[in-house]
Amino acid sequence: MKIKLLGTGAADGIPAIFSSSEVCRKALEPGSKDCRTRAAALIDECIKIDLGPDTLGQIQRNGLDPTLWDAIVFTHSHEDHFTASEIQYSMYPFNSNEYTPFTIYSNPTVSSIIWTRYPDWPLDIVTTQVFETYQIGDYQLTPILAKHAEPEECHNLIFEKDGKRFGYMTDTGLWPEVTWEYLEATKLDAMVIECTDGLHDSGYDGHLALCELVPVIERLRLAGTLSQESPVFTTHHSHLGGSHEELVAAMKPYAFQPGFDGLEFSI
Ligand SMILES: [Zn+2]
Ligand SMILES: [Zn+2]
Repeated sequence: MKIKLLGTGAADGIPAIFSSSEVCRKALEPGSKDCRTRAAALIDECIKIDLGPDTLGQIQRNGLDPTLWDAIVFTHSHEDHFTASEIQYSMYPFNSNEYTPFTIYSNPTVSSIIWTRYPDWPLDIVTTQVFETYQIGDYQLTPILAKHAEPEECHNLIFEKDGKRFGYMTDTGLWPEVTWEYLEATKLDAMVIECTDGLHDSGYDGHLALCELVPVIERLRLAGTLSQESPVFTTHHSHLGGSHEELVAAMKPYAFQPGFDGLEFSI
């Protein structure tokens, strides 16, 4: 399984719109890893995770071919992950498709927003539920419950293919016990997890700061969910949480790394 992080920024991205912090200024330097678009990822060129406001820029920047996407899997309805209007460009009159070339997998909130907006369109939407595994081609997906966006059930995602498992945990917050119970009985070969607040805990419990993420990863390693060698990268970074360079240094003692836009790895 090949994972590509297309976006690793929080809701306002970096450089954040209307902000001029030091991290935002650094992000403007050519090739800067501080330049972060809204969180999104691609699995093996065929499963797209989230469709946010930076989708077109991510396609252009990475030379992607969205006609290869078999599925778009939404995590939740927040607008940095879900830009409903982009879905309409997948079919007539914007091209000659009579149907969307992909299936949408989404929680009940996202499904209902799409159906309200496009009640008569021939969309292929599968509504998914937490802890209920479903199949996309050769992949098994299990959404697990995040502590974020309540009362909506925000989905963190576990992908399984060829005996390998990958966890994509954006907009995570501090997981409820029911999620811990599931994870502690699961093995992951790699994980991407949010670290929105980075070095500066905002006090908001729907997102993680580094001081909250460290014990989460320690608990996963202690339970055997992650081995010491399983790669762990972070995503969904705010400019208020420090620069990429500062995050690399702060995470090093704990043996995980900040993700960045364009990062690609395989398991
Ligand atoms: Zn978000
Ligand atoms: Zn969110």
